Amino acid sequence: MTERGIIIGGEVLPGTERVMRDEGAWWSWDDPADRPDLKRRPNGDATVLAYHWTGGPFRGGRDAGAILVAAMRGRKRADGSDMSVSVHFGIGADGAIFQFVDLAIATLHIGSALNARSVSCEIMWPGTATNAAAIAKQLRSKGRVVHPAYDSKAEMRTARGAAVRCVPPTAAQLEAVVALGEMLAALPPETGVVIPRQLCTKGPPTRRRGAMEHQHASGAKLDCAGYATDALVAAGWAR
Ligand SMILES: [Zn+2]
Repeated sequence: MTERGIIIGGEVLPGTERVMRDEGAWWSWDDPADRPDLKRRPNGDATVLAYHWTGGPFRGGRDAGAILVAAMRGRKRADGSDMSVSVHFGIGADGAIFQFVDLAIATLHIGSALNARSVSCEIMWPGTATNAAAIAKQLRSKGRVVHPAYDSKAEMRTARGAAVRCVPPTAAQLEAVVALGEMLAALPPETGVVIPRQLCTKGPPTRRRGAMEHQHASGAKLDCAGYATDALVAAGWAR
């Protein structure tokens, strides 16, 4: 059954009914089997909102969230062991926003120190043009429906200072990126989620505040090639 509203500390936040939750697509600290995928928040607020692209299919519909969670739970390391990974929110191709973890618990999505200080969101979108072409080809070979977004014109973007050919997210996804950012930036400070309406400051994890993309963390990831942060700036978030 689908429920509505962002949950933090077991409480549903008023004014966030757009966000959907599904009992079958939820990581819970109360479930010992889920704990390796999660992290307790240390003292201090969550001050960062970090966006990712999944690098997977454009998924839409009510089941998109549950399918994303199942895929993340099934991820393995090269040696076959379970990968510890989780995410607070997912955005479907049609702009649906799903929550998968209580915001009082941290997720494992970006790099150890930032995990404890951040709220995470995966956008269900192939990202690179190479990924999009490969996924569309596979879907067509199986005779499956192919979302029109796969055929959007590829664009050259810059991520980590390098040129990368991307297929853009859907307009509905970019609208949802902004909508989620605005909901989180509006949370009262007593929730412990204190995300200013700005792009993330640089510096050590405990000093970072605002919205960022995975490419802005240490490491080699390119997501989201500026699409999420550009949408926030266009909506009035400070650079
Ligand atoms: Zn990422």
